[in-house]
Amino acid sequence: MKANPTASIVIPVYNEEENLPELLTRTLQACRSLGAPFEIILVDDGSRDRSPDLLGAAAEQHPGEIVAVLLNRNYGQHAAVMAGFAHVRGDVIITLDADLQNPPEEIPNLYRKLTAEDLDVVAGVRVPRCDSIFRRLSSWLVNRLTAQVTGVRMHDYGCMLRAYSARVLHAMLQCTEQSTFIPVLANTFAKRTAELEVQHAARARGESKYGLWQLINLQFDLLTSMTTMPLRLLSLLGAVISLFGLGLGLLLVILRLIEGPEWAAQGVFTLFAILFIFIGAQFVGMGLMGEYIGRIYRDVRARPRYLVHEVKGASRLAAP
Ligand code: UDP
Ligand code: MG
Repeated sequence: MKANPTASIVIPVYNEEENLPELLTRTLQACRSLGAPFEIILVDDGSRDRSPDLLGAAAEQHPGEIVAVLLNRNYGQHAAVMAGFAHVRGDVIITLDADLQNPPEEIPNLYRKLTAEDLDVVAGVRVPRCDSIFRRLSSWLVNRLTAQVTGVRMHDYGCMLRAYSARVLHAMLQCTEQSTFIPVLANTFAKRTAELEVQHAARARGESKYGLWQLINLQFDLLTSMTTMPLRLLSLLGAVISLFGLGLGLLLVILRLIEGPEWAAQGVFTLFAILFIFIGAQFVGMGLMGEYIGRIYRDVRARPRYLVHEVKGASRLAAP
């Protein structure tokens, strides 16, 4: 990492007029203490309150330090952060929420950790977590599941207070898929990651933008952004059902030979056995179709296939 890397802070804003004044002062203060050039990119995600005006005024008041990116309507938190990423100029990129649940004072800590250890991702872990018991429980479940599926142990995928290297940022920018879950996306390209405990505050003003439906939506974004495993589970389920049907059929034949023709309730069980075999076969067929769909999905997303960390040495041949 080069000496004195610059910092870009990206903050999505959706109807946060009550939080903006304090957010701006605290973030500016935290960034000025970095001792490095910085920019604060605030993305207005189609707010219907005075947020865009406040952001515009702030950008005018602090030229060169605050950039306001105003989206024309609401696209969702992760889309807004991606929009901010597209305007980033810095070497270290830090994201946080606008509602002050992520204290801006943590920015220097994340910055220092990422630059000192030359990491690709520094993920905040919120301790103590100041959210409702329902949110904490669902987060816990999702984190466990995500860790299982991705094999990357991270304790808090829901925490947006994170730092990324420019390398990872540029890889993420090449992903043009519609539904993204940024923490997972970043991990797919990260070489070295670390976690850092960060403070978390309860929401003081305004209300959470995530109702039950949005949360469910977000979990599906997370799931589909990392794996097509559920499609494969269909085949597995089908195979199990089919095998069960086959086993039952075999058992019936044996019992029929031993016990005689009046056994097996006039063929009712036999019918069941055949039914199971066919139901299972259907699931296997669906799973197989899923395999193709999964591959189509991977291809249409057209994520970068790999990320080169470094090329050492140069060829003496001229470029073609
Ligand atoms: N947000 C956004 N667009 C949306 C919903 C939320 O930009 O459609 C922003 C919001 O302004 C905040 C952050 O995303 O800065 C997190 O939202 P919120 O605090 O409501 O989520 P929670 O903390 O309840 O998970
Ligand atoms: Mg919040």
